Amino acid sequence: MKVEFFKHNINVIDIAHVNEVLNSIFLTTGQTVKEFEDDFASYLSVKHAIGITSCTAALHLCLLAWGIGEGDEVITTPMSFCATSNAVIHAGATPVFVDVEEETGNINAALIEDKITEKTRAIIPVHLYGQMCDMKKIRQVADRHGLIIIEDAAHCIEGIRDSIRVGELGDAACYSFYATKNITSGEGGAISVNNSEKSEVLKMLRLHGIDKSAADRYTGRYQHWDMTVLGWKYNMDNIQASLLLGQLKRIEKLWERRAEIYRQYQDNLGSLNGIKLMKIVPNSKHAMHLFTIHVAEENRDEVLFSLQERGIGVAVNYRPIHLLKYYREHFGYQEGDFPIAEKIGSSTISLPLYPQLSNEEVDYVVNSIVTI
Ligand SMILES: *Cc1c(COP(=O)(O)O)cnc(C)c1O
Repeated sequence: MKVEFFKHNINVIDIAHVNEVLNSIFLTTGQTVKEFEDDFASYLSVKHAIGITSCTAALHLCLLAWGIGEGDEVITTPMSFCATSNAVIHAGATPVFVDVEEETGNINAALIEDKITEKTRAIIPVHLYGQMCDMKKIRQVADRHGLIIIEDAAHCIEGIRDSIRVGELGDAACYSFYATKNITSGEGGAISVNNSEKSEVLKMLRLHGIDKSAADRYTGRYQHWDMTVLGWKYNMDNIQASLLLGQLKRIEKLWERRAEIYRQYQDNLGSLNGIKLMKIVPNSKHAMHLFTIHVAEENRDEVLFSLQERGIGVAVNYRPIHLLKYYREHFGYQEGDFPIAEKIGSSTISLPLYPQLSNEEVDYVVNSIVTI
């Protein structure tokens, strides 16, 4: 049996949407992007959503929009994909890591204050695996020190915690539509903000810093454009947006099926000797992006390979960022610097979790783990 680690959800409706765009005149950022942005903002209950080419670009643009760069420090987590802290470096600032909670893998809000200096400008919490960080606590810390919060919500479009939605307490939140994310356009991303002024700045920054988009210039009487700031080339196009429109309409249904699989894994693996599961915090809706099991560090790779040998797609999310070669060499990090993140990084295995997974496949994964 072969169980893929991930299969996307693109269906005939999505393909029809893409066809519509391909048969229209406008492939780049235009009406379809606008439609997706409006739908996405309304799904999230935020004022503005801005279509971007990736979550990495989205994080980078947010830092720029708040004037964060050279000489500034940004607090974030080592337990994430390297994109999170890479974006800080792209902006010219320095990432400062804070260790995570053992039970969730999320940044430990109680440890943030110790790392704040007069150079600190922002916090980037990552809602790991789809579980929201303690945004109420993080907001309080940020407010005490005049910091902004940019949420890395690449795993967590659907999340809620303590009645707080993703993107609600952060100054901005960044989303990913990368190939394996909950909804996908292959590559793609978005930013949500409630501040209308920042929304305008972000829209300029995503397109060279010019004040008229191609759609503005083309639709109606020709308009001369000006470039007022140095921007980037990070605008989502109509083809990407057309792939996302239908998936966004199905997003809750897709979540429900993942939640079902998640529960099956929990019920069958939760009491196994030698296996630990992440905790879901009370009063929350987990976005169910990744399901991870945690085994003894000395057994991890053996279990990983043996699942692979049985035809099961697996992944490691994540070996901590500070121990990646570039980070060791440029920032002098070493083993022991963030012990909890390191412990998770060397014990974690991600199992297949996506709506297309059949019950037989889930049973096969479960049985493979039980009999290892
Ligand atoms: C996927 C991911 C990113 C990067 O998203 P892209 O759209 O590929 O740039 C950032 N942060 C986390 C936590 C991710 O999983």
